[in-house]
This record gives sequence, structure tokens and C-alpha cells, in this order.
Amino acid sequence: MKTALVLGAGGFIGGHIVNRLKKNGYWVRGVDIKKCEFEATQADDFLLGDLREQYVVRSAVDRGFDEVYQLAADMGGAGYINTNLYDADVMHNSAIINLNVLDAAHRRNVPQVFFSSSACVYNEELQLDTQNPDCREASAYPAHPDSEYGWEKLFTERLVMAYNRQHGMNNKVARFHNIFGPLGTWQGGKEKSPAALCRKIAYANNGDEIEVWGDGEQTRSFLYIDDCVEGIMRLMKHKTFNGPVNLGSDYLISINDLVALIASIAKKDIKIKHITGPQGVRGRNSNNDLIKEKLKWKPPQDLKKGLTVTYNWINNQVHAK
Ligand code: NAD
Repeated sequence: MKTALVLGAGGFIGGHIVNRLKKNGYWVRGVDIKKCEFEATQADDFLLGDLREQYVVRSAVDRGFDEVYQLAADMGGAGYINTNLYDADVMHNSAIINLNVLDAAHRRNVPQVFFSSSACVYNEELQLDTQNPDCREASAYPAHPDSEYGWEKLFTERLVMAYNRQHGMNNKVARFHNIFGPLGTWQGGKEKSPAALCRKIAYANNGDEIEVWGDGEQTRSFLYIDDCVEGIMRLMKHKTFNGPVNLGSDYLISINDLVALIASIAKKDIKIKHITGPQGVRGRNSNNDLIKEKLKWKPPQDLKKGLTVTYNWINNQVHAK
């Protein structure tokens, strides 16, 4: 039986990876500083611990796991990473976790670590045009991410690849583009835009107005969680290609249009009040040329299907309170 260690298993993407690995017949250990918020973990073993502590990481990586999935990070949506209020925490906490994890995995001869990087590594100057942002993988250099979160991800991408070169590991890096779905944070300040908008619309009555940061013309693409997990599994299986590679949808949509789409799913007439707030870059989209070339696969573009499942889940959370 194959064994996997999922770090950040109490979080959104880590929790879904645990479920997928269990479906695939793995023995799974999960680690997180908190338990899964919305459902019981399916992991065979779940350790509660702070991965900033080297001894916690070393005791979690107590054997040569076949695969390690490193999802633990101090992260959030624009309200968390684009406000400059938490920059030191974001850089320190995630960097120290990643340094500990790579070191422990190498010491235990783990062949493969998956690292979850982000579209936030891309150069701010190349994302000024809402309709034509340049997010080809190679465009990350010369580097100019718009947040310290992005700089930490770039540093760790380089750390991961350095372990591959120096220690012959087969570590993988994917740059996620706005992953959304059920079991994700939807309130409290760390939620991302699809969850925040679903929550606002779930609370709203027909004809109400909801607040949107900025003019709403900023664009993004959004990837449903199941497609993200599918992409991770495909990348892990590839014998020679390690990334970094974009893992995102290439269906570009403005935040105003995203509100309209969620409102149509909710069957509510929703008006938008634009207010000042953190927005991140002006436009961002996944460029999927490399993933198509290397994995002979790319994530689907169907935004409405995943949003419907997500809206219904958040709507239930809101009204279960
Ligand atoms: P999440 O916040 O739901 O999950 C991260 C988990 O890490 C949380 O459960 C948190 O408790 C845990 N964690 C944080 N600090 C820890 C510590 N010191 N010790 C132990 N556990 C700790 O976020 P997510 O959306 O599931 O993101 C997972 C990964 O994917 C992160 O690395 C994130 O940067 C990356 N990513 C996510 C997105 C997205 O759209 N969700 C986009 C780009 C990159």
C-alpha cells in the first residue's frame, strides 16, 4: 500500500487531497495546526502540530513516505495578503514550514514532495491589462510579484528545485490560480473572492446590494477544487516533468461578471456597490500552454458547474447558523 503525508490536511485543498488519496487506496497521515473545520478527516492518522517547529515536522516525517503533499501555509484572500498588515507573518511562517519540510523529507529519503505555489508569483507589470495578462510560467522572471506572499512562494519554488538538483529528488511545483469549492474558508477575513461573494449573496435578499472591492472590472480565472486535485495527481505521476506549472482555468472573468453569475445561480437580483478595498493585480489568467504540452491535459473551463456546488454549500453553511 502506498503511503502519503499531507501537510495542511486540516485546510481546504489539503483536506480534498486526503479524500482523493484515500479513494486511490493510500495510507494517509495528515498534519495541521487545526482540525478540519467542516467534516471529519478521512486520514488514517491525523497529527495536530505546528509545522514551524522542526521537531514537529521531523516526527511527522518519521518514515520514507512515497509522497508528501505540502499545502500548509499562512495564506488568505486579498483581504489578508494584499493589505500589508500580515506580511512578516506570511513570509516567516510559510518559509520556515517549507524549509523544515524539505529538510525532513530529504533526510527520510522521501522521493517526492508536491509544493503548492501560486499565481501570485507573477510579475505585477505584466498583469496591468484586464484582458491580456501574461502568466506564462517563464514570465515570472525577472521577478516582481505584487505581494510578499508571492515572493515567499518564489523562494520556496527555488528551494524545491534546488533539492531536486542537489539531492536527486523528484519534487513537483504547481502554481494554483484561485481554487474554490466546498469545505473552503468562507468567512473570517482569510476567504477568497468566490467564497466571499457566495456568502454575501447567500445573506442578501432579492434586490439587495452587495459590496465589491474596487470597480469590479479586475479579472481572474477560477479553478474548481476537483480539477485542481486531478491536476496535482497527474503532475505527481509524471516521470520527468517537475514544473513549475500553472494549475488553473483559462476562462477569464471580471469580478462584476462573477457576481452576476453567482446571483443567477442563487436566482436573486443583486446590485453591486463598489467600495475601496484591496484588489491585487488588475488582471490574471492561467496560461495553459505548458500543462497541455507536458501533461497532455488541461483543466476544464466550466465555471458555472463548480460555482453552483460551491454556492449551495456556502448557502447551507450560512443558513445552518
Ligand atoms: P488553507 O488555509 O485552507 O490551508 C492551509 C492549511 O495550512 C490550514 O489548514 C492551516 O491551518 C495550515 N497551517 C498554516 N500554518 C500552519 C502551521 N504552522 N502548522 C501546521 N499547519 C499550518 O488554504 P488552501 O486554500 O487549502 O491552500 C493550500 C495551499 O495552496 C497553500 O500553500 C496556499 O498558499 C496554496 N494556494 C492556494 C490557492 C487557493 O486559491 N486556495 C491559490 C494559490 C496557492
